[in-house]
Amino acid sequence: KPMENRITDIGPRKYDEFYPPVIAKNKGKWLYHEYLQPGVLVHVAESGDEVYTVRCGGARLMSTGLIREICEIADKHCGGHVRWTTRNNVEFMVDDKSKVQPLLDDLAGRKFAGGSFKFPVGGTGAGVSNIVHTQGWIHCHTPATDASGPVKAVMDEVFADFQNHRMPAHVRVSLACCLNMCGAVHCSDIAILGYHRKPPMLDHEYLDKMCEIPLAIASCPTAAIKPAKVEIGGQKLNSVAVNNDRCMYCGNCYTMCPSMPLADTEGDGIVIMAGGKVSNRITAPKFSKVVVAFIPNEAPRWPTTAKTIKNMIEVYAADARKYERFGEWAERIGWERFFDKCKLDFSHHLIDDFRDPAYYTWRQTTQFKF
Ligand code: SF4
Ligand code: SF4
Repeated sequence: KPMENRITDIGPRKYDEFYPPVIAKNKGKWLYHEYLQPGVLVHVAESGDEVYTVRCGGARLMSTGLIREICEIADKHCGGHVRWTTRNNVEFMVDDKSKVQPLLDDLAGRKFAGGSFKFPVGGTGAGVSNIVHTQGWIHCHTPATDASGPVKAVMDEVFADFQNHRMPAHVRVSLACCLNMCGAVHCSDIAILGYHRKPPMLDHEYLDKMCEIPLAIASCPTAAIKPAKVEIGGQKLNSVAVNNDRCMYCGNCYTMCPSMPLADTEGDGIVIMAGGKVSNRITAPKFSKVVVAFIPNEAPRWPTTAKTIKNMIEVYAADARKYERFGEWAERIGWERFFDKCKLDFSHHLIDDFRDPAYYTWRQTTQFKF
């Protein structure tokens, strides 16, 4: 079918070609939705039409075999339609209540060889949904931690809460593997952030051959890089020098210049942030705040990161009021008590010094008593 106003066929096809018929028919005319059980939603339209959604946790890295199996399930139950959410969940939608239980039974019967869930149903409402995350060691060039590894380890730790609604409100966890933050961790209930702690190394021998030196200099947001001449083996080479005191370890220079790597086994690790949200419900959206300054990378199972997050979630579940998001709870009890209750150390690393009034936080007020 010819596509309107398109010059070529390059790129994805227009999204609305993929709508299930009941979604296309009722677009913009939905009255309400409800959670029927953890992982199962119903949306009801003005026309009386209903759509039942079954949400499953998706793996971070999927084999073609698993994707084929997902497509087979969609063909069998959903007229060939399936969707991925931004949190890497897989959603199967059916247009009649009688189709829900056969779909749930089918999903429950599919297991990996070791007996673990292939398609665990959950991730809705007042529970812990799947973690939205970035690319990690496998795909990106500037990560300070992995994405798939810590996400898998943390989700294993909190898996029971993926499948129930016992939390006071949504708990949204995210991961970005460097502070460029393409994982949007700045507004999450709990955020895992990969952090470098050392400035870039300089491969002077190759730098002039592999990089545009002016571009590398221009890439630095803090103006920490300047041109330099170095002598190696009696040869004078054009290179750069880094003012380490100005460096904030962002990795932008490495993006422009592969001879300025900053990945480092000891220096790299994880920062945990908390209390952010994008929702406007009850209180205005909030930025996440750093609550744990540094945890080393502990591949392959990141035990300290996973246990720290599990503990924060347990304390929140026990202490917060119904509907209170993580940051709302911490603000109500006071951040000082948040650190006490979660048994987290408060150190000078956690004091921010944003100068813009838009970012003023509790740490700059005289009310903060640490
Ligand atoms: Fe790459 Fe940073 Fe994004 Fe991770 S957060 S994928 S390292 S740009
Ligand atoms: Fe500049 Fe960032 Fe490179 Fe440091 S890591 S030198 S702040 S671009």
